[in-house]
Amino acid sequence: MPRVAIIGGGISGLTLAYRLRQYLADADVQILESENSVGGKIASFKDQGFLYESGPNGFLDSNPSTYNLSKELGLSGQLTPANDAAAKNRFLLMGGKLRLLPSSLLGLLTTDILSWRAKLSLAFERFKGKKSNLSDESIYAFAQRRVGTEIADKLVDPFVTGIFAGDARFVSYQAGFPRLAAMEKNYGSISKGLKAARKARLNTNPEGGRSSGQLWSFNQGLGTLTDALAEKCGKSNIKQFRVINLIQNNAENKWIIEGSNGESESFDIAILACPAFSQAAILKNLDEILADKIASIPYNSLAVVVMGFRSGDVPIPLEGFGYLTPSSENRAILGVQWCSSIYRGRAPAGTVLLRAMCGGASRPEMVDLDDDSIAKIVYRELQASMEIQAPPCFLKVVRWKNAIPQYMVNHLEKVKEIEASLANHPGLYLTGNAYKGISINDCVENAENLAVQISRWWSRAKETKS
Ligand SMILES: Cc1cc2nc3c(=O)[nH]c(=O)nc-3n(C[C@H](O)[C@H](O)[C@H](O)COP(=O)(O)OP(=O)(O)OC[C@H]3O[C@@H](n4cnc5c(N)ncnc54)[C@H](O)[C@@H]3O)c2cc1C
Repeated sequence: MPRVAIIGGGISGLTLAYRLRQYLADADVQILESENSVGGKIASFKDQGFLYESGPNGFLDSNPSTYNLSKELGLSGQLTPANDAAAKNRFLLMGGKLRLLPSSLLGLLTTDILSWRAKLSLAFERFKGKKSNLSDESIYAFAQRRVGTEIADKLVDPFVTGIFAGDARFVSYQAGFPRLAAMEKNYGSISKGLKAARKARLNTNPEGGRSSGQLWSFNQGLGTLTDALAEKCGKSNIKQFRVINLIQNNAENKWIIEGSNGESESFDIAILACPAFSQAAILKNLDEILADKIASIPYNSLAVVVMGFRSGDVPIPLEGFGYLTPSSENRAILGVQWCSSIYRGRAPAGTVLLRAMCGGASRPEMVDLDDDSIAKIVYRELQASMEIQAPPCFLKVVRWKNAIPQYMVNHLEKVKEIEASLANHPGLYLTGNAYKGISINDCVENAENLAVQISRWWSRAKETKS
């Protein structure tokens, strides 16, 4: 019976534990989590009638991994889709005003947020040849090359803020936006790639569906998913334990895991599913070169400011997902999600719930301000952008230090080097959002693939022993 340690009880670690318990039926799978609750970045709270998320607020079904996992866990009845208006209407703050972001190519060609030059670049993107060597570059450089600087500034920059809280000038297009990279590689252009994707979608679903997929959460928030996974893994298999060191015992093919409380435990398989900087600290004594490579994956910090307002104090119609701010606008906040418009049941009658994102690459100092100062800045911004008339009736400030890994240019090369170094340490594995995708879907999919890989390795290792 293999003893398996999973270090980190976020969505990556929990999914991996759940699958390993299925694939290695006789395994003793333990989750070691430094905090007193699991879920990691996923955490839903109820307070004064508001239901808010301190981390992610949904997942798309364009990659079905999380949706399918939820169904398998018996959570179908608790899934809740985003409202139609939220799916269709996303806004940009431009020149201090909220502008509807067109959701189709035709919309982009007719909108007045882009100049005729930008529209021409967009219309002729399909005729631009692909780069001869297709080496990695930033998503900003990629967009500049394919559709020009204006679109890179007005559309791509806020898009990268929305996903990575990052700077489009540094985030890798190949690692951060693999679908776009594949479209250029396989079809020669993004327009042709999108057309092919639409055709494929229509072949499988004649009604088409949304190209970006449907956004989902649960009636009681995303914590429903991590709670259900924790339940399946068994509460007794989840231990509060801050791992500080890992020792490879080659003589016995064991991994000795040391905790901050002075305890140590021995396992056959050790998997690090915590953030890259924690992984690096844990691996430092074992393999300094590997640890340094992992430590070189940078993170951005975020503050999430949750605010409830009386509906009458918000004069604009909140029919949409919210808005993002291009960095050229030089505003204090990255964007605002209109949570009570995205999902039902998020705010008591007569109120609305909003979430402002602050910090990230453009304003890292915001995260270190005290609650009162952050809240004042956000309120001033909302007064200007959304004409809000009175202070919030509900307020929570959540700080996420080192929240989101940044996939810098050549990130995929780094991941390959890390994987190559791991070959020197049989029985040791890494997962989590630092490597191959930061969305919940990516974390679930990568953890599921890793579970298959580990169970195969264990079967082979067992055969070799016997
Ligand atoms: C504000 C915010 C909004 C987001 N919005 C979305 C969204 O809407 N949709 C989406 O798909 N994604 C979103 N994301 C990204 C997504 O939430 C994360 O990428 C994902 O949840 C990460 O899961 P994980 O399990 O890999 O890591 P984590 O959730 O970070 O879990 C790692 C766990 O490891 C534990 N740990 C750390 N060090 C140790 C140690 N030494 N010993 C033991 N345990 C340790 C931590 O306590 C934590 O529980 C968002 C992220 C943030 C921060």
